Amino acid sequence: MTEHLPQSDRRSEPIELVVPSPTSAPTPVPLYCRRCRRGVNIRFNNLGIVVQYLHAAEQGGQRSDHDPEPIPITEIPDPIIECDFCSAPDAAWIYRCANQFSEHRRVTTQVIGVSDYQSRHRAARVRRTDTEHAFTQAWGEQWSACGACADFIEVRDLYGLIRRVIDALPAKYTRGKHLMRTRGELHDTYSEVFDTLTPGRGRIAPGYPLGIWPDAEAIS
Ligand SMILES: [Zn+2]
Ligand SMILES: [Zn+2]
Repeated sequence: MTEHLPQSDRRSEPIELVVPSPTSAPTPVPLYCRRCRRGVNIRFNNLGIVVQYLHAAEQGGQRSDHDPEPIPITEIPDPIIECDFCSAPDAAWIYRCANQFSEHRRVTTQVIGVSDYQSRHRAARVRRTDTEHAFTQAWGEQWSACGACADFIEVRDLYGLIRRVIDALPAKYTRGKHLMRTRGELHDTYSEVFDTLTPGRGRIAPGYPLGIWPDAEAIS
């Protein structure tokens, strides 16, 4: 016999996630906000349809006074390119890797045993947790990096990079039990970046928001 915890007693539906394939990603060119000239992230629903644009800074918990107005970065004369890793204001390099999607789920129901609940109340063990798809985050194929983060990337120092980014994050992501989860998420995301990095890197310069690449196929 089971009992639902009252605060999370919501009906859940079976979810089948359809992650958009990298080839059908909406645009290979990063989107930036026309108003504040800063990076915009994309979130999809489980049908692969864009449901939300979010300033990259809002991803880290910051508030914005306006909704993003996303346009390709190449259409913004003077974009503010922050480091996609540590959020430092002046990114110096562009790295390319496979587009990456991370699925975020929300808890709909937690099921616990009644006898466990009676004896342990809130400490009762969770027998089953139902979740539903909340959104899928697209990370894009291009990652901007500041000089210091790029140094870690060049020598493929995954843990050095994670340490640096953790130090730069707001305390609420690294306090107590959040630290383990944050570190795990960064490890997953950055491992994928490292595993799929294409050779070389582009140097960001005025008028070249996609970087100047050594093989002379400068794009902008
Ligand atoms: Zn904006
Ligand atoms: Zn950085």
